[in-house]
Amino acid sequence: MTTTWTSVIIILIASILYERIISKVAKLTTTVYLHRSLTHFSFKLKRPAEMIFRVSCWLLLGSIPREFAAVHRKHHKYTDIEGDPHSPFVNGYWSVLLGNIFLYQSEAKKIDLNYWGKGVPTYDWLDKHSNLGLLSGFILVCVVFGVFGWLLSLGFFIGVLFGAGAHLLLGLDYLLATGLVNSHCHKRGYKTYKDADAYNNRFIAFLTCGEGLHNNHHKYQSSPRLRTGERWFELDEGWLLIKFLDRIGQIESKGPEWPS
Ligand SMILES: [Zn+2]
Ligand SMILES: [Zn+2]
Repeated sequence: MTTTWTSVIIILIASILYERIISKVAKLTTTVYLHRSLTHFSFKLKRPAEMIFRVSCWLLLGSIPREFAAVHRKHHKYTDIEGDPHSPFVNGYWSVLLGNIFLYQSEAKKIDLNYWGKGVPTYDWLDKHSNLGLLSGFILVCVVFGVFGWLLSLGFFIGVLFGAGAHLLLGLDYLLATGLVNSHCHKRGYKTYKDADAYNNRFIAFLTCGEGLHNNHHKYQSSPRLRTGERWFELDEGWLLIKFLDRIGQIESKGPEWPS
């Protein structure tokens, strides 16, 4: 009996750790790769780093880079006015907070990708099979946890339940975090730049690897660093990763707003 409970505690801790770590990976993939590099051309990644992010994007997010860039660029062009794909002022606070994904999907279906997605690479096979990516990620986690459950003598199926639960929680965590940026950061927080849209929110920045520094981002859209200026209290984990990628030689070129 004691052994069984020990095994349950071990697999529970493993599933919580999995969710916490992969949540960071998913959010860093979004902010560093999809947002800062591909959408705003803040910098260009070298092929090895780009492919790692692309696979992470395929397995964890199911996002098509060109679509992401197109919808997001439209958000910058029509911020909080008619035409913004996801604005708390146009669609309502709760609709964006809880339904951001549906607003995104509805815009992605009709947006002109040639115009709004200009310059963003297409990955034919991966782009066409984005749902297969999400499903593969889910199955992979279930199998790994299933084997782990079997090794702990809990059984394969119990292991799968822990893996599936952690992965679904990861999805909810991610959707809520992106919903918070697109809703709350357009309504509440502090403005470092009074002449720019949106607000900074340190707690949301902590949850989203820097994306919550949204007023800074709306002011300097092509900056790879969302913690603009030397404000120690603004945490931007995305920028920390970009600096690391630069140090290991994975940045091919730097945009004009790269900090000197
Ligand atoms: Zn915004
Ligand atoms: Zn942006």
